[in-house]
Amino acid sequence: MSEGKNPRRGFIAASAAAGIGLAVAPGIRLLQAAESVPTRPAGQPASSKVRWGMLVDTTKCAAGCDACVKACNKENAINEVVEDRRQASQWIRKIDLKDKKTGREFSLPMMCQHCANPPCVDVCPTGASMKRADGIVLVDRHICIGCRYCMMACPYKARSFVHAELHAQNPEVPRGKGCVESCTMCVHRVDRGEKPACVEACKQQAMVFGDLKDPNSDISKRIAAVPSDQIRADLNLDPGVRYQGI
Ligand code: SF4
Ligand code: SF4
Repeated sequence: MSEGKNPRRGFIAASAAAGIGLAVAPGIRLLQAAESVPTRPAGQPASSKVRWGMLVDTTKCAAGCDACVKACNKENAINEVVEDRRQASQWIRKIDLKDKKTGREFSLPMMCQHCANPPCVDVCPTGASMKRADGIVLVDRHICIGCRYCMMACPYKARSFVHAELHAQNPEVPRGKGCVESCTMCVHRVDRGEKPACVEACKQQAMVFGDLKDPNSDISKRIAAVPSDQIRADLNLDPGVRYQGI
């Protein structure tokens, strides 16, 4: 297997192949979730009664399409200019994979997997890397000292270090030079009852967002109905992002 575009993150292709066994479920199509996302009123803490997650249908994710990446960059104002592209922040990236045994090629988006047992949180010396009660893993930029232990601990290479000066930021998405950051599952949108920007932007309707703890949510019903996998499930991190067709 080979991963396209970003060499720094190339190991994930092999990891994906090793950990998920490439159980393919062809011909199964998911529809975009029509349900609404419940809001979290201001001042109320996140609830452990929900666990936010995503299901990505790789049979619908088109190679060469990066609408989710563009939407993430726009939503979170990831727009800084860096001389070395390896220093660019990247909260979501597309990975092109090839199964060496069958020759099947497919494409998937990779972002923070919002692990239930996140090693990035375990290694953080300040508590900046944290998991909310509803499963969303975040970094508090006010506490982050930029040590980058969490970047080394994350097996999905999901985190970035902010090298550049930041301008024209989204006030709802605090970022900071010298801090580590990663996909927030668009927590600012989720808290007001909206879906993540990448999910909304996917014209293939390959991404479903919802509450993994609610058996009646679209995502739970679909996970119950079709085979899906966690990438590197062998690590027992219990990611909240699941993949169909890998
Ligand atoms: Fe942390 Fe990486 Fe898991 Fe996200 S994918 S929760 S950054 S270990
Ligand atoms: Fe980016 Fe939001 Fe999608 Fe995460 S959920 S990859 S922050 S658009």
